[in-house]
Amino acid sequence: MAQMMINGKSTPALSGKTLDVLAPSDGLVYDSIPRGEAADVDLACSAARAALEGPWGRFSALERSRLLLNFSRKILDHLDELTDIEARDTGKPLTAARADITVLARYFEYYGGAADKIHGQVIPFLNDYSALLVREPLGVTAHIIPWNYPAQMFGRSTAPALAMGNAVVVKPAEDACLSVIRVAELAQEVGFPPGAINIVTGLGEEAGASLAEHPGIDFISFTGSNEVGIKIQQAAALNAVKCVLELGGKTAHVVFDDANFELAVPTIIKGIVQNTGQTCVAGSRLLVQKEIYTGFMAMLAEAFAKVRAGTPEMDANCGPVISEKQFRRVNRFIDAGINDGLEIICQGEILPGVPEGGYFIAPTLFSADDHSSDLLTQEIFGPVLVALPFSDEADAIRLSNATDYGLQGAVWTENGSRQQRMARGIRCGQLYINCFGAGGGVELPFGGVKRSGHGREKGFIALEELSTTKTIVQFYGA
Ligand code: ADP
Repeated sequence: MAQMMINGKSTPALSGKTLDVLAPSDGLVYDSIPRGEAADVDLACSAARAALEGPWGRFSALERSRLLLNFSRKILDHLDELTDIEARDTGKPLTAARADITVLARYFEYYGGAADKIHGQVIPFLNDYSALLVREPLGVTAHIIPWNYPAQMFGRSTAPALAMGNAVVVKPAEDACLSVIRVAELAQEVGFPPGAINIVTGLGEEAGASLAEHPGIDFISFTGSNEVGIKIQQAAALNAVKCVLELGGKTAHVVFDDANFELAVPTIIKGIVQNTGQTCVAGSRLLVQKEIYTGFMAMLAEAFAKVRAGTPEMDANCGPVISEKQFRRVNRFIDAGINDGLEIICQGEILPGVPEGGYFIAPTLFSADDHSSDLLTQEIFGPVLVALPFSDEADAIRLSNATDYGLQGAVWTENGSRQQRMARGIRCGQLYINCFGAGGGVELPFGGVKRSGHGREKGFIALEELSTTKTIVQFYGA
């Protein structure tokens, strides 16, 4: 049975309750995790506070830097083991799981490298005064993370927090969290003091809600659904703490008539099939200039039909979706698309030999005549791509912005002026031109506008989000 990590010790829930862990590839139970509740969260928050007031709070920037870099190497030393854990827990192909663990290590490398390079400022002020701006940790930071990329999300959220000297309490998702648990064990081995990294597993409405509203936290970072994100922001408001929310997206690729089709086609397919479409940055809408719609869609369909879903070992393009709940939800969307009159252009293949109880869905390419269907405005979180023709630049910008989300955008054109006009016109936090996604994109500031949330993760900017400033004014005149 997997255990939580509280105050440097692997521990069951105080209540002794557990939750089953199922493999998405066959739907069978193969492990269990503690069902942590408010009392466990309380212990974790106290342990984090004690760490800040104890040894962890006394680590110098250089010591934190070296520790994070050692942790990164330790993760890579366990690459095979962590890859297997992640692949089985999420169902994703082994190659994808391996890439995820590499990105996890990269987060600790990047932020380990940055930890001792954050400078304050000297502010010109009145004569005989010195005014300093110093950067300090926020304190105990809470991190509620989702199941789609457990290892990567752990790195993305906690590495900048730890680099800045915060103590973290993480609530990973009940649907997939075994890699996070193992990584937290490795953190103890590499020398993080007890309480610097705490993991409380359990249900969202129990452990998650208790953590979000706990008076002992100084910050919350949340990645997940809009519905829960709003609850998190309300909980943060009760304690007047800052929150960073990353709540999903509905990214549109915009393909103009001068686009490089050979480059665009495989990238667009990867952008929706990757992680079985279970990513907030899925390129789930495709806007194609009407003059090339038929030709481009024919080329896309030919490649899309070759996409294969399989178990982690099958070396397929994608795996199953995470759970029966998601399986039903994605299939409901596909049925709704058919009812809305959308045309199925083609579907990928579910490889023969996948276990019967696995949550496999054939990747599906739809074509629509207008933007009215829910499939074009709601986040499906599955391997479903919906294409639609557009007339001109203004139409492409209008359609790109025609959802509540604003996480990412993508433009395919060789015309440089048009690239800039589109990049400025699309409302989002990250915009790609003639490319898409960034293999983790650890260095690239990331986050949304509109209902995709607020605050920024990744890159140097995350270090600012995970810290605060103090202005120190001193009079030194006679
Ligand atoms: P999904 O619908 O994709 O599972 P959620 O937003 O429900 O996404 O879950 C993302 C994370 O938020 C998970 O770790 C989950 O346990 C947690 N969570 C779910 N409900 C709540 C809640 N009411 N309060 C705090 N955390 C929650």
